[in-house]
Amino acid sequence: MTIAENLQKINTTLSKSVTLVAVSKTKPITAIKEAYDAGQKIFGENKIQEMAEKFGVLPKDIQWHMIGHLQRNKIKYMAHFVSLIHGVDSLKTLKEIDKQAKKHNRIIECLLQVKIATEDTKFGLDSLEINSILVSEEYKEFENVSIVGLMGMSTFTDDKIQIRNEFKSLKTIFDFQKNTHPNFKLLSMGMSGDYTIAIEEGSTMIRVGSSIFGSRQ
Ligand SMILES: *Cc1c(COP(=O)(O)O)cnc(C)c1O
Repeated sequence: MTIAENLQKINTTLSKSVTLVAVSKTKPITAIKEAYDAGQKIFGENKIQEMAEKFGVLPKDIQWHMIGHLQRNKIKYMAHFVSLIHGVDSLKTLKEIDKQAKKHNRIIECLLQVKIATEDTKFGLDSLEINSILVSEEYKEFENVSIVGLMGMSTFTDDKIQIRNEFKSLKTIFDFQKNTHPNFKLLSMGMSGDYTIAIEEGSTMIRVGSSIFGSRQ
């Protein structure tokens, strides 16, 4: 199957309330261009420098999402163009995003990453930490960064019940915070292997790589 066919196959299963982020990390410009020509305008990358290089050579109406763990000293390389940052996990990082966004007179939208998986390798915050960031005086003073929802990754397992329960727990935290934060509009959960379950559990944004572009080395 071609990239265009893969995209079409996924898109026919999605309702309008779910946004597809095409995860193009490690993939060449030609592959991204193929997806773009098939109508895909939102791409996700997990390394800031790789994303900045691709931004430099690809059409300017692409929306670039940063989905990886952030190195604070590199935020400056994407502050002028990134459209959504999915993996924020500290006030320190928010502070740096705010500082860099200010230089470009922008407000950068971010998602806080919640740890729902059992693996130690997956990072993220728990519900208390999410809450303490959202109610902090420091966050209220940031004028150039806006937290618009949450992101999470399920455990890498064949146990579909476990995956579903992890997504349910993320949706519960999302709904709770949405009550007091009218800015909350995005729940980023679901990848190639589990996006169907994620959508059933309330995802509004899925991040799909290998099902579009093929497996990565
Ligand atoms: C790589 C990656 C994805 C996409 O993974 P696939 O299994 O290829 O769909 C989604 N989210 C994050 C955070 C990733 O790093």
